[in-house]
Amino acid sequence: MPNDHSSSPVLPTSSSSSSSLSPPEVQLTSSGSSSSPTKSTGGESGNTGDDLKVYLPKPIDDKHDEEWEVKRGTELDDFLGNGVEGDDGVEASSASRENLGLNNLHNNLHLRPPPPPPPPPPPSKSLHPTIIPFGSYALKVHSPSSDIDVLCLASPPPLTPVMSRSQFFSRLKQYFETRMNDDFIISDVTVLINAFTPVMKFKINCIDIDLVYAQIKEENLEEYKNEYLGKETLRGLDAESLRSVNGVLVTNEILSIVGKERGEVFRLALRGIKRWAKGVGIYGNGMGFLGGVNFAIMVAWVCGRFPNAGPARLFQKFFQIYSTWSFPSPILLSPLLLSPPPGWTPQQIWNPTLNPRDAYHLLPIITPCYPSMNSSYNVGKGQLRRIMMEVERGREVVDGVMKGRGGWEEVFRESTFFNRFTNYLEVRCVALTPSDFRRWQRWVESKIRILIAGLEMAAEQGVEVHPFAKFFDVVGKEMEVCGTSFFIGLRSLRTNGDIVDLSFCTNEFLYAVSNWEGRVQGMEIFVQGVSGGMGGSGGGAVGQQKVKGGGGKGKGRARNSRKRNGTRRGNGGGGGGGGNSDENKGNSTTTTTTKGKATTDGFSEAIGSPTKKTRMR
Ligand code: ATP
Ligand code: MG
Repeated sequence: MPNDHSSSPVLPTSSSSSSSLSPPEVQLTSSGSSSSPTKSTGGESGNTGDDLKVYLPKPIDDKHDEEWEVKRGTELDDFLGNGVEGDDGVEASSASRENLGLNNLHNNLHLRPPPPPPPPPPPSKSLHPTIIPFGSYALKVHSPSSDIDVLCLASPPPLTPVMSRSQFFSRLKQYFETRMNDDFIISDVTVLINAFTPVMKFKINCIDIDLVYAQIKEENLEEYKNEYLGKETLRGLDAESLRSVNGVLVTNEILSIVGKERGEVFRLALRGIKRWAKGVGIYGNGMGFLGGVNFAIMVAWVCGRFPNAGPARLFQKFFQIYSTWSFPSPILLSPLLLSPPPGWTPQQIWNPTLNPRDAYHLLPIITPCYPSMNSSYNVGKGQLRRIMMEVERGREVVDGVMKGRGGWEEVFRESTFFNRFTNYLEVRCVALTPSDFRRWQRWVESKIRILIAGLEMAAEQGVEVHPFAKFFDVVGKEMEVCGTSFFIGLRSLRTNGDIVDLSFCTNEFLYAVSNWEGRVQGMEIFVQGVSGGMGGSGGGAVGQQKVKGGGGKGKGRARNSRKRNGTRRGNGGGGGGGGNSDENKGNSTTTTTTKGKATTDGFSEAIGSPTKKTRMR
């Protein structure tokens, strides 16, 4: 549904500090890219009349130095650990990340030309290709499940010979092959040269690395000597190179907006928020939820708005602000930057008044550098529903903790998601070998958004979907294969027990998944209904359908199967048998399984009887 741009967003008034939660309002301009950006002083109004209103984080004077707040902050710090904590609270080995040898890549790749005679005067900065980390690693908020994002920035000719991105990636790949027996184990090398932002992905000692590449233009040599990523240095880069350096620019800009003196408070709150988001199953950009950069911008906004808040209050404000934010009003750290810096290749920016597609974005979180982009463009309705529900729940729990009702462990407890619904849809993918499995899971995961979007059609039939952003390992006595499962809670909005057939909602997903050219024998996918009791051995698995791995293209064959002896492993699992299904409130609905079609629901008695209609409890 398109956004209603005529309505002014209203921010929270429900809390005791309601006035402090109402941020200043500015407007998006509807004029073209030649217009100058809105003034950055929060609170000032932007240009035109019928535009979407947005809020900048204008700081408010909310001085608090209450003892309890300081105490809660210290407790939060203690709880999360002093270093970079793991997703489950285990201290991560940051040393292992620092010694990956990435910084020596440029030397080893022989990108350096022989020193020019006569030796130049010492430059203010290194002239060699440089590895610059960005993302969570650079923000120092990474955890064991984080990747390391790095930009390899090649210096301009003649310091470094001209080297295209694909030349660089293939040279790096060759270089890795020569190092296979070294101390570093490099594996899973994949080059995505045609991606929107071309990237080389690999693992070093099991740690995921995402490496992007750009080379400065020769004409910017002088600027480069003074500043790596200044606006002048990046003049003339093509769009792909600009996108490649964008991650570094965004990370630097977030840190600069937060400010040095607020850095530690920001980090602590962000680490807490990321850990909470992973625990409740709403973390993961690729699946249409929110990822690292989204949460970093959201926390930075709150940080800017409450300049005196310590980490605990910042953490609390995060929930207060976003549980009442009037989406799709965008989260913006600074005004939209409509015009490129001089000499930059112009790029499309997020602007719902100009680009109809942008007007469909549900939860826009805009990056703070040119080109202003919506970093959460792929959040779908189902994901938004889950995010907002968890933020609401989080708000209640955190408010309780801040009032002294329990410690921080209340916030980071295992999710009750698997107790909330009577019926779930399980997507299970399996493969025969670990390496096939990794590739297959990555592929299925990249298509999960199609499934969730497809299931939104079930709303018309009275079924609301609640996806959980995590894959759970499948283990079981009879499982000789590697497997993992993704779950979607199904909430019936009906009370009349009508039949609901979900198979039409999953067809597109199964078609997209099964037609993968990289698919080999043993890569299979099942979509099945699962009822209640998820803590044990897979619960009451119900009418199930499997698309067999066949290798190569062609329509996946869908059929029912009885094979279902897996259990779940991973966080977020609550035991119990659906007795607390607070999302269902006694509603009942029936589903059917459909022969030859892609998938279904139903109950155990329907297995092997694909056309039988069965009742969902
Ligand atoms: P994590 O700990 O999950 O790795 P992260 O902050 O490093 O969190 P990534 O998803 O690894 O997040 O992304 C790394 C960087 O790439 C981000 O900091 C951001 O600069 C850029 N990036 C990633 N996704 C987007 C996006 N959707 N839009 C704009 N920039 C993005
Ligand atoms: Mg990362």
